[in-house]
Amino acid sequence: MALSNTDKNLDVEIIAKLERQFGSRFAAIVRDSPTLRSDLRKARLLGVRIKRWNGKTGAYCRYYPTDRRNAYISIGSLDSPLMKVIYLAHELYHVLYGTTPAFPDPRKISRKRYLSMAVGEEARAIMRQTKVAHELWSTGKHAMPAWQLNLMLMELTGGYKQLRDYVLVARQSFGMETYEENFGRIWDQAHRKLIRERQLKLKNSNNQSRRRANRSISKAA
Ligand SMILES: [Zn+2]
Repeated sequence: MALSNTDKNLDVEIIAKLERQFGSRFAAIVRDSPTLRSDLRKARLLGVRIKRWNGKTGAYCRYYPTDRRNAYISIGSLDSPLMKVIYLAHELYHVLYGTTPAFPDPRKISRKRYLSMAVGEEARAIMRQTKVAHELWSTGKHAMPAWQLNLMLMELTGGYKQLRDYVLVARQSFGMETYEENFGRIWDQAHRKLIRERQLKLKNSNNQSRRRANRSISKAA
């Protein structure tokens, strides 16, 4: 499908900014992926901020599925331009399409459901990054790292299911937790907080009724 002039102009504007942050090699790679450019346009319209994370490798993002406008993505400055582009494609999936809440409400979502959501979202983010990697690889201009080629192969042979299984055993780059351990901890924290709040409420209403009871006793005396 041909791009409209508005989209073309938006691409030029977005890529010029990325070039200032991440260099001309990075910008040239971004130009070669229609999927990435399309996601970048969506992110721009939402006001998603893309930041350079100086002296770091890897990437991360913050977003709230209920309001995607304040989302941001941080890309480490130390990786190769191609790795940075692949990370960007991955994080864009989270901020644009992810649905896993950062602060789950244990009254509304079970632990099992929350973990399943988080792992599913991660598998979809890997699919998105793999789609972008495939577009880049198809141009014949970019040498893919072996681990990304492996993900492309996994998706071709086993699709979403296989990537989901891969996420289940994968370790996150921050800390050495699996995704289930990490999101399990987030859910458990929310659950403990909820229990504390309930206990406090119960204690307060107990105190109140005791005071009321004491008042009626003193009146009767
Ligand atoms: Zn991810």
